[in-house]
Amino acid sequence: MRPGFGLKAIHLKILDTFDGGGASLPAAATTALFGRSLAELTEIVARLGQRPYRAAQLAEALYKQRVESLDAITTLPAELREQLQAEGYDIGHPQIVQSARSTDGTERYLMRMADGETVETVWMPDGDGGERGDGTQASDEEIAEEQQAAGQGSPSTYKRATICISSQVGCAVNCQFCLTAKLGIRRNLTAGEIAGQVAAVLNRHNVNLGSSRGNPTPARINLVFMGMGEPFLNYTGFIAAVHLLSGHMQIPDARMTVSTSGILPGILSYAAETVRPKLAVSLNASNDVVRESVMPITRKWNIAALMEALSQVRLRAKECVTFEYVLLGGINDQPQHVAELIALLKAPTAPIRSKVNLIVWNSGPSMPFHEPAPEAVKLFHASLLAAGIPTFTRRPRGRDIYAACGQLKRTLETPPPAQPASPLVSIAH
Ligand code: SAH
Ligand code: SF4
Repeated sequence: MRPGFGLKAIHLKILDTFDGGGASLPAAATTALFGRSLAELTEIVARLGQRPYRAAQLAEALYKQRVESLDAITTLPAELREQLQAEGYDIGHPQIVQSARSTDGTERYLMRMADGETVETVWMPDGDGGERGDGTQASDEEIAEEQQAAGQGSPSTYKRATICISSQVGCAVNCQFCLTAKLGIRRNLTAGEIAGQVAAVLNRHNVNLGSSRGNPTPARINLVFMGMGEPFLNYTGFIAAVHLLSGHMQIPDARMTVSTSGILPGILSYAAETVRPKLAVSLNASNDVVRESVMPITRKWNIAALMEALSQVRLRAKECVTFEYVLLGGINDQPQHVAELIALLKAPTAPIRSKVNLIVWNSGPSMPFHEPAPEAVKLFHASLLAAGIPTFTRRPRGRDIYAACGQLKRTLETPPPAQPASPLVSIAH
């Protein structure tokens, strides 16, 4: 057997069993109330002999007030809170057990789930530039803030941040350049665990999303499903989380972006959704040969099939699909690659309005790649622009704390015992 063949075969076999539904991976049994739909909450309160409006109060406390204990739900009678406690229910936010702050303000959190599994979540004040040019308000805000910083715009009246969330514990997609891939896959996150990362981070930063007289400048929060895992291999959890976040937690779907390595069944399901984040696709190569060598999963779905699936997505006015392209020195960053990429995106048959986000590869320990030369990045960027393709080179966030794209890997391999979150560990000043 060729070295490495067995491992790849196993990965493809695992992926065969998902096929976009993601139902085959176990999710943790949970006592958490957070993550439940209004219908589920109604069932719980009905079983405890209470009227349906109590479920609405419970949902309000869970998702709008983001309470952290049952005791804090003062709208519910003490008797009901005690009943819930006696039945074993708790709020169930993921617990922040470790944190690190970068020189650029980015914060990376290790989040512990009820069963001890951990994932990483990243807070990026001012966003990461990834939404520039995607035709949405989030993009307009980025541009306005840059103009203001350059003294050209009116003072900003909003606070802005992007939260990068994980969708799985580890990842089954064996991208050769990504640190998360080294973990393999452990399990899917539930909708509550995905949306719960957002609640935990918002609480950490005392973010008020509602607009009221007491809060004239509500924070603008953007979400990116770009942490650990492949969201479209946990489709059920991903889309249920989107509904919780947009329906209950006041974060519009147009402020969310989901990034996929190109799982076709997932893209087709996504194309049929009415409530959906914007889409980013990790293309990462200009032809199938290079793409298959760095992203073995793409043997299953080549670039032509990917483009065909993307043609099913009905974009909102001005919206673009973002093609992410991680520049790997000497592998996909050469002039012939940019020429192929331009041919692909400018083809008369190109299915969709798009933009390109170039990402300079972030290194990881013992990985067989190197960063592209700065001149190669500039030339690649300039060539795409010259061809009329909107292009942005992502500014890396939190590299010094391993919080940048593809650097997320649990730093605690052994789950810590449940305990209150430690204060922020500032590892850089
Ligand atoms: N699994 C999804 C989302 C998480 S990865 C996906 O692959 O799209 C988010 C982005 O980080 C992807 O575009 C991926 O190509 C990129 N990425 C992965 N490893 C990287 C690394 N080491 N340096 C820079 N970008 C990386
Ligand atoms: Fe998974 Fe995305 Fe990393 Fe590929 S790049 S291994 S899909 S997290």
